[in-house]
Amino acid sequence: MDRATALTELFLESLSAEDQDLPNLRQAITEVAADVITVEKNDADWAAARVLRRLVEPDRVISFSVTWTDDAGDVQVNRGWRVQASNAIGPYKGGLRFHPDVTLDDLRFLAFEQCFKNALTGLPLGGGKGGADFDPRGKSDAEVMRFCQAFMRQLAPHIGPDRDVPAGDINVGAREIGYMFGAWSAASGTYAGAMTGKGLSYGGSEVRTEATGYGLIYFVQAMLARAGRDLSEQRIAISGKGNVAIHAARKALAERGKVVTLSDTSGTLYDPDGLDPAAIDWVAAQKAAGGDLSDPPATLRATFEADAQPWSFEADIALPCATQNEIDEDAAKALVDNGVTVLAEGANMPTTAGALKVLRKAGVLYAPGKAANAGGVAVSGLEMSQMSHRRFMSAEEVDQALRTLMSDIHDRVAAEGQGGGSVDYARGANLAGYRRLARAITAQGVL
Ligand code: NDP
Repeated sequence: MDRATALTELFLESLSAEDQDLPNLRQAITEVAADVITVEKNDADWAAARVLRRLVEPDRVISFSVTWTDDAGDVQVNRGWRVQASNAIGPYKGGLRFHPDVTLDDLRFLAFEQCFKNALTGLPLGGGKGGADFDPRGKSDAEVMRFCQAFMRQLAPHIGPDRDVPAGDINVGAREIGYMFGAWSAASGTYAGAMTGKGLSYGGSEVRTEATGYGLIYFVQAMLARAGRDLSEQRIAISGKGNVAIHAARKALAERGKVVTLSDTSGTLYDPDGLDPAAIDWVAAQKAAGGDLSDPPATLRATFEADAQPWSFEADIALPCATQNEIDEDAAKALVDNGVTVLAEGANMPTTAGALKVLRKAGVLYAPGKAANAGGVAVSGLEMSQMSHRRFMSAEEVDQALRTLMSDIHDRVAAEGQGGGSVDYARGANLAGYRRLARAITAQGVL
């Protein structure tokens, strides 16, 4: 066993039994610790400050009940959380996820990862995450509004433009942000940037909706350029049909890539010659209407494969953009067999530890979500500064700034991760994020 693995095991054993039992959190900590723990041990100040241990322990976890009334007049009760992980480099920042399966394990691992992601942007953004076990599917607009208002009644005392600035995540889009921002503004009696992802008519930023998907493509372009390749005619398998997947698909097409799949929980839409804009628009419309992909109109060339994952089709590049742990070992093997040489994560932690081993062994160039999907939070950072300056940028300005931010993130990560003639992007992202956090945490003393 090498030193890093031995130290990582010791580190994991030192955590509370409760934390050790949270599988997603454990996986996220293990991956980061394996890359940074020897760096910490070799720096007397960082070791003494116990930087990694402090990053694992969120500053606070706020847990609350969300009580609201449905359209039938019945009282409903949900559970909500906000994990404020670290504000060492800026106000807590991270999305809110509404999903019936959401657990504190998910939010703890996402908040931990968010600290590193936000550090990589170079912007003053701390790390956080939150959400509720609420299922917006099948709910009326009025029910979603009442839920969002009830959620914000509980959360409002804990957030603010200099304190904690939540954004959207799975099932939290423009509609939910609008209702929650309105509720926060009413509760606080102020108008300020306490949330990002806001609509353009009340302080939002151009390109925020598109930013994660667009940024993912900009990151992949930087990876390809470093390897002497480009996106033109590359076959790209994308999973998901949500915000990240759709905008990644549109940008990939605009940059002359061939998007061969999009998917949802029902199966995969596939076109070996590349989905055209009409097909992507249809997928987006299905998502907006709460429909699935199972019945594409005859006017589309694409075919639907029930229960298939995008990884079972031939492609050069894989962009998982649906959810965590969607690529297991078998999926990774299928991916490699189907010709994939580059995988960049649009979703957060979509690749399991076992799958990562398969990808590494096969020499697949792998970019972790904390680097590749940082475009969303980066534009959220721009939204925060636009809101406080009361001066807003044009779509072209934001898009250009996003391109530059993603290329800078790529270069920071590649510089840390290079060695032996190739780049380990996962290691590079962990090290670059850690170093920035370690400097800030150490400089601010023991609090
Ligand atoms: P959305 O809710 O807009 O979309 C998620 C989509 O993924 C849904 O359409 C869902 O399908 C599909 N999906 C879920 N599970 C599976 C599965 N097992 N197989 C296939 N499809 C599946 O979410 P987002 O696009 O906003 O987020 C996607 C991921 O990206 C998440 O991991 C999120 O944390 C991450 N992310 C999002 C950011 C953002 O700005 N939105 C920023 C950074 C990361 P169905 O419709 O059938 O439920």
